[in-house]
Amino acid sequence: MSRRFDVIVLGAGAAGLFCAAEAGKRGRRVAVLERSDRPGKKILISGGGRCNFTNIHCKPENFLSANSHFAKSALARFTPADFIALVEKYKIPYHEKTLGQLFCDRSAEDITGLLESECRQGGVQLFANQRVTEVTKGSEFVVRTETGEYRASALVVATGGLSIPKMGATDLGYRLASQFGLDVQPTRPALVPLVFGRNDQKAYCDLAGVSAEVVASVNGASFREKMLITHRGLSGPAILQASSYWERGKAITLDLAPAQEITAAVLSAKTRNLATVHNAFQGALPKRFAERWVERHPPEALTNAALEKFEKSVHAWSVTPVDSEGYEKAEVTAGGVDSDELSGKTMESRKVPGLFFIGEVVDVTGHLGGFNFQWAWASSRAAGRSL
Ligand SMILES: Cc1cc2nc3c(=O)[nH]c(=O)nc-3n(C[C@H](O)[C@H](O)[C@H](O)COP(=O)(O)OP(=O)(O)OC[C@H]3O[C@@H](n4cnc5c(N)ncnc54)[C@H](O)[C@@H]3O)c2cc1C
Repeated sequence: MSRRFDVIVLGAGAAGLFCAAEAGKRGRRVAVLERSDRPGKKILISGGGRCNFTNIHCKPENFLSANSHFAKSALARFTPADFIALVEKYKIPYHEKTLGQLFCDRSAEDITGLLESECRQGGVQLFANQRVTEVTKGSEFVVRTETGEYRASALVVATGGLSIPKMGATDLGYRLASQFGLDVQPTRPALVPLVFGRNDQKAYCDLAGVSAEVVASVNGASFREKMLITHRGLSGPAILQASSYWERGKAITLDLAPAQEITAAVLSAKTRNLATVHNAFQGALPKRFAERWVERHPPEALTNAALEKFEKSVHAWSVTPVDSEGYEKAEVTAGGVDSDELSGKTMESRKVPGLFFIGEVVDVTGHLGGFNFQWAWASSRAAGRSL
């Protein structure tokens, strides 16, 4: 049986639902086709179950893209304040956790509830358990699934990235982009823990669970946040942020004592020995980590000159991870549909009228902290308004 709509949205995630609701409320007949058994599954696990739904300090600099200007227009036309207004309209209690990150007080279900309610108001029809087998375009788009056929003059691809395959992530969005002749920037796991080489694993991984505030720098980007030692390498917000800029074979530089002068206490001590060096890390690093690190990177001597060199090394520990933990552990996928292929105003393909890409499938990747949802809202609003 063939069903006819004005708009078909592929994917009932954050972007797909928000776009569908917007188009539906503007009078369009909208169908959302979702592969899994229910909408918004990733939203439910986001932010540790509380969904970090936006960030009040959202700026274009918080996003990676081959074209750093692309996201500006959509982000400017739908801001964190706009989404917060909607959250408040639904009387969803929320709080700022840190660094402008807004979380639900209760549960991420408040956000999926909001999106589902908005979709109901727009008369959006949701079809779950839909496996897309083919998409074609003649005078209109035809989407065939294992159980039906859907037709519409506009097709919005909101199938997300490759992260967390066990939750149903697929490469359909990238395949459709290629099928219709659009370039796709190479994809890679981002906001992902990194894996130490064998020597560093041997040296540090028995300290799994130990954390410290560091500045992690890579490829011109720096993040001052917590770092966590894991059973395989490094994680924690500072490392997740840095991972989005990291390339295989490259080193990450870690300042283990941001804005602190570790050796000052050693220089002024009556007697200088390794114990004074270890103690000097108090307040900067957990004791076990400080001792282990000094064991592996001891000062060459305890002279003023050697301590000066040691101080520099504390602020510039160079670590070369061998890998990331991959899409299984990545919060997002960097790369994706080349933004030069899309209108920054509407997210519509420049080559194929009526074909739109929104959310994570596009080559726009946010920093950790609510920016990826803000991109999902902003890009889907941009598309939803023009459908
Ligand atoms: C563990 C985790 C925690 C996160 N926490 C946060 C957070 O707190 N704040 C934040 O800003 N970001 C967070 N993110 C990132 C954020 O969830 C994503 O960037 C965002 O969900 C992207 O929205 P989207 O709609 O583009 O894609 P998704 O939310 O991934 O939605 C895509 C939808 O398309 C469906 N789909 C896929 N393939 C097909 C197909 N072939 N046919 C039909 N449907 C298909 C999927 O099942 C899914 O429902 C987190 C990510 C993870 C993995």
